[in-house]
Amino acid sequence: MKTRSKTKTPASSKTQPPKYIFVVGGVISGVGKGIAASSIGTLLKARGHNVTAIKIDPYVNVDAGTMNPTEHGEVFVLDDGDECDQDMGNYERFLGTTLSRTNYMTTGRVYQTVIEKERNFEYKGKCVQVCLHIPLEVIARIKKAQKSAQADVVIIEIGGTVGDYENILFLEAARMLKIENPNDVAFVMVSYLPVPSKVGEMKTKPTQHAVRNLNETGIQPDVILARSNTSLDEKRKEKLALFCNVRADRIISAPDIESIYDVPTNFERDNLGNILQEVLGLQDKHASTLRAWKTFFDTAKKYTKEVHIAVVGKYFDTGDFVLSDSYISVIESLKYASYGRKVKPVLHWLNAKEFEVYDKKKLSVLKKYDGVLVPGGFGSQGVEGKINVIRYVRENKIPFFGICYGMQLAVIEYARNVLKLIGAHTREVDPQTTYPVIDILPEQKEKLAKKEYGNSMRLGAYKAVLKQGSLAERAYKTREISERHRHRYEVNPLFVETLASKDLQFTGTSPDGTLMEIIELPKEVHPFFVACQFHPEFKSQPFSPHPLFTAFIAHALKKKAAL
Ligand code: GLN
Repeated sequence: MKTRSKTKTPASSKTQPPKYIFVVGGVISGVGKGIAASSIGTLLKARGHNVTAIKIDPYVNVDAGTMNPTEHGEVFVLDDGDECDQDMGNYERFLGTTLSRTNYMTTGRVYQTVIEKERNFEYKGKCVQVCLHIPLEVIARIKKAQKSAQADVVIIEIGGTVGDYENILFLEAARMLKIENPNDVAFVMVSYLPVPSKVGEMKTKPTQHAVRNLNETGIQPDVILARSNTSLDEKRKEKLALFCNVRADRIISAPDIESIYDVPTNFERDNLGNILQEVLGLQDKHASTLRAWKTFFDTAKKYTKEVHIAVVGKYFDTGDFVLSDSYISVIESLKYASYGRKVKPVLHWLNAKEFEVYDKKKLSVLKKYDGVLVPGGFGSQGVEGKINVIRYVRENKIPFFGICYGMQLAVIEYARNVLKLIGAHTREVDPQTTYPVIDILPEQKEKLAKKEYGNSMRLGAYKAVLKQGSLAERAYKTREISERHRHRYEVNPLFVETLASKDLQFTGTSPDGTLMEIIELPKEVHPFFVACQFHPEFKSQPFSPHPLFTAFIAHALKKKAAL
C-alpha cells in the first residue's frame, strides 16, 4: 500500500472551477457582439484571469474559408490554419492571445464530427439524435478549448440572434452546461434598442421580447448590454429590469462610440467586470490593469500628426461598411503601427478598377499619399489596376507594402516592366501565360482538380528565414520568423533566378529555400518596396504592432518629412 504523502493539498485542488460566459444577441445581429465579448474578456484579463474566447457561427459551412468577404467580412486565419470569422481576430487582438481551431465552431463543423463519430461506431449502437448529441458535442468542444488554454474563464459568443432557428442547439448546449454547473455559467445578452425617428425615444419592447425568446430556451440572462445610438436612461433601465427579470444595476448602457477600444472602458464604468465576477463567484486576482489599456488608446486619440496611406483593392464599390469589414485586420494593423510612431493614420481607399490603363496623369494621384498598400485578394478583377499602381509607386519611389496577392502582383509587374517578360502573369488569372511567374502550389493542383475548395490553400503559420542585412531582417530584428498564410499560388521556383537577376531580392524564404516569402528592392533603388506572401495583419496586436507594418509606416513618415 502506498504511504500517504505528507505534502499539503496541491493548490490546484483548491482552485476555482472554470467559468463560462455566453454572449448572445437580441433583436438584430451586427450590433457588436464580437466587440462586446472581446471587451468582457479584456475586463477579466485585466483582473488577472486567464481568459479564452470561442466563436460559434450557426451556418452550415464548415469554416469561413468558402465565404465571400464582401458578404461575411474578412476571413481570419489562425496559426493552425483554421479559416474563421473576423471576430476571432478581435479576440486575439483584445486579449493579446493566440487561439486555435478548438475556439471556433460552426453548425457544419459540429455535425461533421458527430457524423464521423457515428460512422466510427463511437456511439456504440445508440440512436444518435440531433437533440442531445449535437449539444453534447458543442459542450465537449467548449471544455476542450478551456482545457487547452487552461482558462479560468471561457467567453462563448453565439452568432446570430436569439429566436433564430439556427442557433437553437447552441443555446440548448449553453442551458445544459448551466444545469451541470449552476454557479459557473453566466449569460450576457447584447440587445438592440431602437430609437424610431418619428417617435424620438428609445424603445425597450423588442428587447423584452428577445429576453422572453431566450427564456423559452430555458435561459435567463444575468446581464443585458443595451446597444443603441444613445445612452440608456434610468426610466428605460427600470422598465427593462422589471420586464426582463434582470437587476437594474446589471443592465449596462452600451451606446455607439467612435472607437471599439473604448468599449472595455465604458463597460468598466458601469461596473461590468465586478458584476460578472459577482455572478460567477470570482475575485480579482490582482488590481485591474485596465488603466494601461485606457491610457494607450486615449493617448492615441490625441495624435495630430497624420500619415496618409492609400489602400488599393477591388471590393470598394459596395460601400464603407463592406470596406471596414473585409479588411479589418489590415486596418487595425495600420492603426497599431501608426500609434507606435505616435501618429494618426488616415486611410484612403482606392478602387483598382480606376487604374486599369497605365495613365500617368491619373496615377499621379498616388504622389499625394505617404505610402501605398496592396492587400490580399483573389481572381482577375482589378488586377491590371493594381499592377499599374505598383509600377507607378516603384518608378516614383513611393513607399509600397504588398500583402499576399499584393506581393504576387508586384512580382508580375517587375517581370513585365523591368525584366521585359511581356505577358508575365499568375496562372490564377491567365492559365496560358508564357511566363507563369506565379504558379499554383503543387499540392494545391490536385485539390482544385477534384473541386476540393474547402481548406484547400496553404494555410496557417509557417516558418521563414530572412536574409542577413535585408530591410526585412532589420524590421524584425531576427532572422527566423513565423507567419500566417492563406494562398494557393506562389512565386514559380522556375523563375526565381530570372526574377532575382536584377534589383529584386527574395529576402525571406521557407527554411528549405523553396518558397519565396518576402521580396524587396534595395534601399539604393527604392526607399521602401517590400511585399510578403503571408498575412502579417493576422498577427498584429495593439501592444505589439507587426514589424513590417511598423517599418512601412516609418518609411511613409520619412517620405512625408522629405516633402
Ligand atoms: N489569390 C492568391 C493566391 O491564392 C493570393 C491570395 C491572397 O491574397 N490571400 O495565391
